[in-house]
Amino acid sequence: MSEWQSTVGRLIEEAEAVVVGAGSGMSAAAGLTYTGRRFREKFGDFIEHYGMTDMYSAGFYPFPTQEEKWAYWSRHIYCNRYDVQAGKPYLDLYQLVKDRNYFILTTNVDHQFQLAGFPEKRIFAAQGDYGMFQCAKACHKKLYENEKEVRAMVARQKNLRIPSELVPKCPVCGGDMEVNLRCDRYFVEDEAWERACAGYTGFIRQNRNRRLVFLELGVGMNTPGIIKYPFWQLTDREKHGFYICINQGEAWGPEEIREKSLYVNMDIAEALEAVREVM
Ligand SMILES: [Zn+2]
Repeated sequence: MSEWQSTVGRLIEEAEAVVVGAGSGMSAAAGLTYTGRRFREKFGDFIEHYGMTDMYSAGFYPFPTQEEKWAYWSRHIYCNRYDVQAGKPYLDLYQLVKDRNYFILTTNVDHQFQLAGFPEKRIFAAQGDYGMFQCAKACHKKLYENEKEVRAMVARQKNLRIPSELVPKCPVCGGDMEVNLRCDRYFVEDEAWERACAGYTGFIRQNRNRRLVFLELGVGMNTPGIIKYPFWQLTDREKHGFYICINQGEAWGPEEIREKSLYVNMDIAEALEAVREVM
């Protein structure tokens, strides 16, 4: 038994509150990779036509028509949100924290936490959800579940286009719809989003001055302002705060919190499994 996993296990066990922050590395460790073989197998026809290199950049492709855009996007959503099960690192994490006082903050939009059994009231998915549509111009603050629509678009697309009658339209203004992802100023924060956000800030507030563990999983430098920097600041501010960062190749933090931090530079799936074994 190596030392780090016992230390992580002990920190979680002794914590009065655990704040989990999860980024894209967590889902990549669950097998939901956006590049390489998985991308080539699922998007061969799109790659051939558009020269796409990965699912992340493909999401920004300026499709000339809504029919072409939704042919791509419906498959993207289907692959990453509906045609998947909970990944192992999510299930392992659930076992580690389910009987504790915890909250999840995530930039992931793939619903993996819910699939793994985490209750909605303990999750704040700040950047949106693949499973929701919104008005592209945010003319009203409501989100629409899209499973039925997405499945139909996937089933009926041909030659990289969906039939025009399947193009989603805003029920209020009649304009285009968009996936509820934070990528421009039109991102819709509905009541459930506001509630989750308040749940997160309330959790931090209620647990001030307690033994707080900030467990960061797979957060890169893409949007560090949402999880990473706040976790560093909170660890620094909180007398009994402790920061654990698990991230292959990117496990590091500032000098100021060196005495109250632990860095695990390895695959998240392997790391969480190793911690589970000692608990
Ligand atoms: Zn609208």
